[in-house]
Amino acid sequence: TMAVYLQALGAPLEELLWWTEDMLVSGTALRRVLGVEGTDRPGRGQPHGREIVVREVRYGYTAGREVLHGIELRIPPGERLAIVGPSGAGKSTLGRLLAGVAAPRSGSVTVGGAEVSELAEDVLRGEVLLLTQEHHVFAGSLRENLTLPAGDWTDADLLRALTAVGLAGWFSALPEGLGTRLGAGALAVPAAVAQQLALARVVLADPHTVVLDEATSLLDTSSARQLERSLNGVLEGRTVIAIAHRLHTAAAADRVAVVEDGRITELGPHAELLRAGGPYARLVEAAVPVY
Ligand code: ATP
Repeated sequence: TMAVYLQALGAPLEELLWWTEDMLVSGTALRRVLGVEGTDRPGRGQPHGREIVVREVRYGYTAGREVLHGIELRIPPGERLAIVGPSGAGKSTLGRLLAGVAAPRSGSVTVGGAEVSELAEDVLRGEVLLLTQEHHVFAGSLRENLTLPAGDWTDADLLRALTAVGLAGWFSALPEGLGTRLGAGALAVPAAVAQQLALARVVLADPHTVVLDEATSLLDTSSARQLERSLNGVLEGRTVIAIAHRLHTAAAADRVAVVEDGRITELGPHAELLRAGGPYARLVEAAVPVY
């Protein structure tokens, strides 16, 4: 099972309000609010197939400081890949490149042969979504929280998605159904529900691949279990790339990629890497909360 990915709905009120204003002018900012990222892109190319291929990827945020130094990786459709490694190694950066949120400085990240960072918005949405821990709910109606920045789903679609992630009970108690206002100054959304709403957006967008940036769970055990069940259901049949902070995520994956200092230093199934006694085994042994 994939572990629960988590977040703190920790954004202060001011920040949520600021984001809400900002989203009117910036689709990218809005996607950040939703914790479902993408970029505004010109739109080019059409994937033929679902294999993700990373070739010789180099990336840096600022000139003169490269963070990824030539990443090579092939991810077959339907694989569950866990990415582990020390803090600052480049895991989240790699996740952003895999999701097309950022483009490599050199090299390529392709899905079905098409450069991910150049896909049109609507094409990208059906291919890969990045699910992060931040900003899952913004001030607005439940309907807006599910459908913005784009999407022409019917109310029935939205209800189906809410049910699929285990929110039918929560929904039935809402005073104004899909019109109920959430967030700042309105209905408080518990962290567990915020997580499930993010999953409902995945159900709606229905991408082939989900890049999951896990975080330490702040949920109580029973909420965490419920969320994990929803997550497993939603991820079923998709390619899942999990930036794993928990050992059991890595142990349950098909393969584990160890990233150290901007390079993949080991790649293979959990059991094999443990036996090999290399970087992965050292991470596990050091009980560095597999990070
Ligand atoms: P963690 O497990 O702590 O999240 P990580 O392995 O995901 O770490 P990244 O977040 O990808 O690592 O960061 C890789 C390197 O890039 C780090 O040195 C980090 O300081 C730097 N970095 C990350 N984001 C930015 C940014 N927005 N601007 C500049 N540098 C950044």
